[in-house]
Amino acid sequence: MSPSVETALPDEVRIREVGPRDGFQNEPEVIATADKIRLIDLLSATGLKRIEVTSFVRPDVIRQLADGEEVLRGIERREGVAFAVLVPNRRGLDRALQLRDRFDDASFFLSASETHNQKNVNRSIEESLVGLEQSIPVAREAGIGCTSVIATSFGCPYEGRVPTEQVFSIAERLIAAGSDEIGFGDTTGMANPVQVGAFFEEARRRLTGVELTAHFHDTRGQGLANVLAALQEGVGSFESSFGELGGCPVPPGATGNVATEDVISMIGEMGIETGVDLPRLIEASAAAQEVLGRRLGSHVLKAGPVEWR
Ligand code: ZN
Repeated sequence: MSPSVETALPDEVRIREVGPRDGFQNEPEVIATADKIRLIDLLSATGLKRIEVTSFVRPDVIRQLADGEEVLRGIERREGVAFAVLVPNRRGLDRALQLRDRFDDASFFLSASETHNQKNVNRSIEESLVGLEQSIPVAREAGIGCTSVIATSFGCPYEGRVPTEQVFSIAERLIAAGSDEIGFGDTTGMANPVQVGAFFEEARRRLTGVELTAHFHDTRGQGLANVLAALQEGVGSFESSFGELGGCPVPPGATGNVATEDVISMIGEMGIETGVDLPRLIEASAAAQEVLGRRLGSHVLKAGPVEWR
């Protein structure tokens, strides 16, 4: 590895914790609203500055997050912590806007592959883009920060390779519509570090003026390697889930966002600032483990933080 690669590492990294949405949504059981609120409050106290707290999807489609309003009303607003809500469409945005003072940012999404988008939201990519081009300006008008996440950016379980050109042209439309941030999701854990490095090298050149965020899944154990590859291209924004919760319902079995505590531990040991209190974060993951009644996948939750004696 050349020294120039090392100097590209960012000094500071921003994490958006997505476990309360991506994680809770993909649990087979519906987690009690009071437990969700307690876990989000624990996360807010760790120093994490961005948390995706729920989604305004149709309650009859995703019953795990049917309590979005109650969760937003119940969680403690803490100075310096921005709450995001996932918004699938205009109807979801209108529901979210009823509670405008309870959150800061909206996350919009679509897939870079036709088949995945069709299976996930029952629309073509073009139909999704047209919808987002209508919703994003409405959210902006309301002073809401707009993140657009492109799922299957690094590969699709149905179509295989997704041309980066396709991902970037979708990103350019989302930027033109008013997104402040573009997230790239490795939705089913297909990306490898070399691919990720080349992807972000080009992304940083082409997509300027917006924050670029990486969202990796550890489906095949490559999550942290991909985080490192993105860091080495200067990416300073990541999405991850405490405890390694989460995944994607399509296809079944595609589970596990990279664990927030594993990311925080690794980059903290590398000397990069996150502002997150790791032992507190581990406590939040342990509390989630207790609520769910099963062992979670996170490494640092099992092993504890590195202690240099
Ligand atoms: Zn995910």
